[in-house]
Amino acid sequence: MKELLILGAGTSGTMMANHLRKTLSKKEWNLTIVDQEETHYYQPGFLFLPFDLYKTKDVKKKIDKFIPKGVYLIQEKIECINKDNDVVLLKNGVELCYDILIIATGTNIAPHEIEGMCGDHWYKSVFDFYTYEGAKNLRNKLRTWEGGNLVVHISEMPIKCPVAPLEFAFLANSYFINKGMRDKVDITFVTPMSGAFTKPKATEALDYLLEQKNIKVIPDFNIEHVDGDAKKIVDYAGEEVAYDLLVTVPTNMGDEMIKRSGFGDELNYVPTDKATLQTKVKDNIFAIGDATNIPASKAGSVAHFEAEILTENIQRYIAGKELKNEFDGHANCFIETGNGKALLIDFNYSQEPVKGTFPLPGVGPLSLLKETHLNHMGKLAFKWVYWNMLIKGKHIPFVSAKMDTAGKHIEETIN
Ligand SMILES: Cc1cc2nc3c(=O)[nH]c(=O)nc-3n(C[C@H](O)[C@H](O)[C@H](O)COP(=O)(O)OP(=O)(O)OC[C@H]3O[C@@H](n4cnc5c(N)ncnc54)[C@H](O)[C@@H]3O)c2cc1C
Repeated sequence: MKELLILGAGTSGTMMANHLRKTLSKKEWNLTIVDQEETHYYQPGFLFLPFDLYKTKDVKKKIDKFIPKGVYLIQEKIECINKDNDVVLLKNGVELCYDILIIATGTNIAPHEIEGMCGDHWYKSVFDFYTYEGAKNLRNKLRTWEGGNLVVHISEMPIKCPVAPLEFAFLANSYFINKGMRDKVDITFVTPMSGAFTKPKATEALDYLLEQKNIKVIPDFNIEHVDGDAKKIVDYAGEEVAYDLLVTVPTNMGDEMIKRSGFGDELNYVPTDKATLQTKVKDNIFAIGDATNIPASKAGSVAHFEAEILTENIQRYIAGKELKNEFDGHANCFIETGNGKALLIDFNYSQEPVKGTFPLPGVGPLSLLKETHLNHMGKLAFKWVYWNMLIKGKHIPFVSAKMDTAGKHIEETIN
């Protein structure tokens, strides 16, 4: 028997386990997956938790529920990969040999990277919402918060789901309107980017919405430290932004295990070919999802498209065929804008988000780069799709791994 080992049973690892158990021969291939957690988190739900829109049961389920029969699940921390000997060492001392390795260990927040961020004020006046703990603590804080300066902040790029902080600012706007206290809250969005998002046309549309919802934007802010006692963030140029409540997205980093294995970049991301998803570490090591250094968005939808290409490439690798270099960076994200509306963006490495219809050209029913109620319904439906189709490796009708240009107003500008 040959061994295929998957590291991480989050969105990407679970999808790959489901895809590969269906495609690889049970007589020839043992499949093993390793994760330190007992819980699978629906991370997009962390956005809704602080506003009491989702409950714990919406975002947490047992990890083993989604691992298919015929895949062996090991619940243990991964210590490191010994690539020269094709072995993975677990924290309990067990060594796992592999013929093919898939790294799917994701990315996580690293608040200790910013001076003063996670000191005495952490989860008192400084919060994240990128972890279950952070989102839950923030929910408790918001329930009794009486108002003041709410600063929504991104420490540095890249972060997973780069639109989530914007969505948080939009949802905060409607949350405080609905509580009848919007006049008691100033909302400021502070970002190291030169605008609201990484792509110009989407930034134009989002800037308009931010202004309309009275959310101030401070761009080009490269944080140097948090002064928790004085309640201000300070950037390298000496600019200061005061807050009463800081909701920050700390630096995102790949797992320390990558560093211990000796091949990550400075943020512990795995050097990976952006079209084939084979790593540049060794031919029999592949990577998927947030753990890679490829220039695609770090999002579950991206991992879903990557999984289709990677499944085919694993089969090709086994058969000794040339790998398909077809992953185009396809990303598809709903942007919740509050009060029952959302935008939808669909883009890839070379095509930025533009207006149009999705998934059916000219028909939709979803609209690209336009605030609609139907897009909001799509965002809510994503939770069901995630638990019932996406991580189970089921094909989502009308949505292909390769981005479709039909239905997109490629040449048009926003007006
Ligand atoms: C607030 C928020 C909102 C988001 N919204 C959206 C959205 O609307 N749409 C969208 O598409 N995406 C969204 N995302 C992003 C999406 O959740 C991630 O991109 C996706 O989960 C990445 O999957 P992954 O498998 O690469 O990593 P993960 O799902 O994070 O899985 C990594 C797994 O590896 C395990 N692991 C790591 N290191 C070790 C180790 N040393 N030992 C053992 N196990 C280890 C972890 O325990 C974890 O289970 C959002 C994310 C956040 C935080």
